[in-house]
Amino acid sequence: MRLLLMGAPGAGKGTQAALLKNAYNIPHVSTGDMFREAIKLDSELGRKVKAYMDKGELVPDSVTVEVMADRLAKDDCKDGFLLDGYPRTLKQGQELDLLLKRLNIKLDKVFNFVVKEEILIRRILGRRVCKKCGAGYHVDTLKPKVEGVCDVCGGELISRKDDTYETIKNRISVYEKQTKPLVEYYEKQDLLVELDGSKDLNETFVEIKDILGGMNDHN
Ligand code: AMP
Repeated sequence: MRLLLMGAPGAGKGTQAALLKNAYNIPHVSTGDMFREAIKLDSELGRKVKAYMDKGELVPDSVTVEVMADRLAKDDCKDGFLLDGYPRTLKQGQELDLLLKRLNIKLDKVFNFVVKEEILIRRILGRRVCKKCGAGYHVDTLKPKVEGVCDVCGGELISRKDDTYETIKNRISVYEKQTKPLVEYYEKQDLLVELDGSKDLNETFVEIKDILGGMNDHN
C-alpha cells in the first residue's frame, strides 16, 4: 500500500500515520521527523534545515526532494510506504511523480485531513511529544497516565520547538499558500479522499480502513 497524508499542521496526519503503519505494516515516512532527527544529531542536513523549521518556513525544495529520493530508495519502502508531510509544494509533488515513475510504482490514495483553523491552533498548542521515543500526546484529548511522563518509555514529555502560537500561525499560512494547490493536483489524478479531521481519531481510522479495505493491494 502506498499512501500519502495531507493536511495543515495539527490536522491529525501524524496520529493517523501511527495507527496506519501498524495496521498495514508499512514504514511511516515523515519529512518533519527526519529533519528533527537530523537536528538532534547535529548533522549537515540538520544544520541546513534548523532555521527554516524554527520559523515555521518550508525547507527549500532542493534539499527536501533529495532527502525523499534517498529515503524512498531504501529497502523498507520497496513494498509500500506512508508519506506524511511530503509533498508540501507543487514542485515536490511533480518531483515525487517523476520518482514514482522511475521506480515504476503508483500511489494508491491521498488522504486530505480538513480542519478549521481555531481547532488546529488549539490542538497544536496542547500537543506534547516524548523527548525519548517520539510518542505523541495532548494535554486535553490524549493525556498520559502520569502528567509529563511517556506511557511507552517513561521519557519526558515536551512541546515541539515550532509549536508556539507565532510559528503555528505562520505554518498555517505557509500551508494555505504553498501546500493547498496540491489538493487540486491529486484531485485531478483521481487519488484524493477528503476527511473531516475534527472527528474522533478512531472514527477517522475506521473510515480510512473502510476505504482501503475495498482496494487491491498491488505491491
Ligand atoms: P511537520 O512535522 O510535518 O509539521 O514538519 C515540521 C517542519 O519541517 C515544517 O514546518 C517545515 O519547516 C519542515 N518540513 C517538513 N516537511 C517538509 C516538506 N515536505 N517541505 C519543506 N519543509 C518541510
